[in-house]
Order: sequence, then structure tokens, then C-alpha cells
Amino acid sequence: MDHRLLEIVACPVCNGKLQYNQQQQELVCKPDGLAYPVRDGIPVLLENEARTLTADESLS
Ligand SMILES: [Zn+2]
Repeated sequence: MDHRLLEIVACPVCNGKLQYNQQQQELVCKPDGLAYPVRDGIPVLLENEARTLTADESLS
């Protein structure tokens, strides 16, 4: 995924910065405990498409 893109994307829920998880191809918002999928290099920043982080993932 384009790293310039990462600097402009924000969480649609809290408007905060997202962390890119390259391994899982997800953009993670720790405060909300949500992970947004990245499909074909395009972040899908929709709350209803996001995955809820597990307790383990929220802690790390
Ligand atoms: Zn958020």
C-alpha cells in the first residue's frame, strides 16, 4: 500500500490516525478497537466493513 495514502487516511469513527498492519493488510484504530481492510491496496474505511480487534490485539 502507498505510504503517502497512510498519511491522509483517518478513522471514520474518531477521525484519529490509523496504523497499517502490513501482515494482515488492515488499518487499525486502537482507540475504537477496529481494523479496516485494505483491498487491492485500497483502504476500505467503512465502519460496517471493519473487524473488531480481539482483546489481545487491542493490548499489543
Ligand atoms: Zn477510530
